Amino acid sequence: MKKVDFKGPRDMHKTKCSDCGQATEVPFVPDADRPVYCRDCFPKHKPPKKE
Ligand SMILES: [Zn+2]
Repeated sequence: MKKVDFKGPRDMHKTKCSDCGQATEVPFVPDADRPVYCRDCFPKHKPPKKE
């Protein structure tokens, strides 16, 4: 029996956070031209929301 976690299997790619430098995994292929952030840093780099 296969264990199903949240929304099924996903391709996770190991990369490094562009902010703190810690190893993290993202559900997409990291683009060399774009910074990738870990879960801790991601909220800090979200574009300001318009209201
Ligand atoms: Zn980070």
